[in-house]
Amino acid sequence: MSARSALQDLKGRFYRSFYRKEQRLRLDRGIVSLTFDDVPHSALENAFPLLERAGQKVTLYVAGSVAQPDAATNNERFISLNEAKRLHQLGHQIGCHTFTHRRPRPGTDEAYVNDAIRNRDLLQKEIGGDAGRHFSYPFGALTLGIKRRLRWEYDSLRSARRGVNVGSVDLAHILADRLYSRSLDREYIVSQLTTAQERRGWVVFYTHGVSNPAPDYGLSVSDFEWVLSRLQASRCDLLTVAKACERIQQ
Ligand SMILES: [Zn+2]
Repeated sequence: MSARSALQDLKGRFYRSFYRKEQRLRLDRGIVSLTFDDVPHSALENAFPLLERAGQKVTLYVAGSVAQPDAATNNERFISLNEAKRLHQLGHQIGCHTFTHRRPRPGTDEAYVNDAIRNRDLLQKEIGGDAGRHFSYPFGALTLGIKRRLRWEYDSLRSARRGVNVGSVDLAHILADRLYSRSLDREYIVSQLTTAQERRGWVVFYTHGVSNPAPDYGLSVSDFEWVLSRLQASRCDLLTVAKACERIQQ
């Protein structure tokens, strides 16, 4: 293990150790959730027709400032709040990703928390239902102070820390594996699904855009098709994060 990944590993353990929102997992079957962060318009164009055809529902974590009409970052266009609302009406889940897609630093924990809650309130006002009640940390970055303060503001908070949630889950720091074409390890993904299935755990995946050529932080269309086929072939139930939380809290 390199010094850098050892440090990352240590940081991950640190964040997992405190201010947990512990939930025991007593499941009859494994669960898999597919999530999209930000959400680039390319996912709407290329992934959602395939999800619709497959009858699968997913979770989208939306940052209100990038979901404004005409907002574009690095020439990438993101889905609007109206588009998010349409997806919500189709049964997909809309989660919160702070308003300004911010990092914890520079700035205070309080500013971060206010930014997150501003976005949650916006999503609830514009979309309604359960929109905004679940969260993912932009860049997977957090501080213990942020975790402590946000854990009761949201039903769940998704990290970018790899691993299958087995035995129990920290709902303030749900483990999740990324799906990026540039680093896609198919054997690893299949083994994560197998672990969730055999140990009746919960595996969560995240990505961003879906296009050809593959975006840096997303999937090519064929890789997305492969992922979807593996999810469907697994004997885990494919649920949104909200439905997964309902299931595990039964
Ligand atoms: Zn993001």
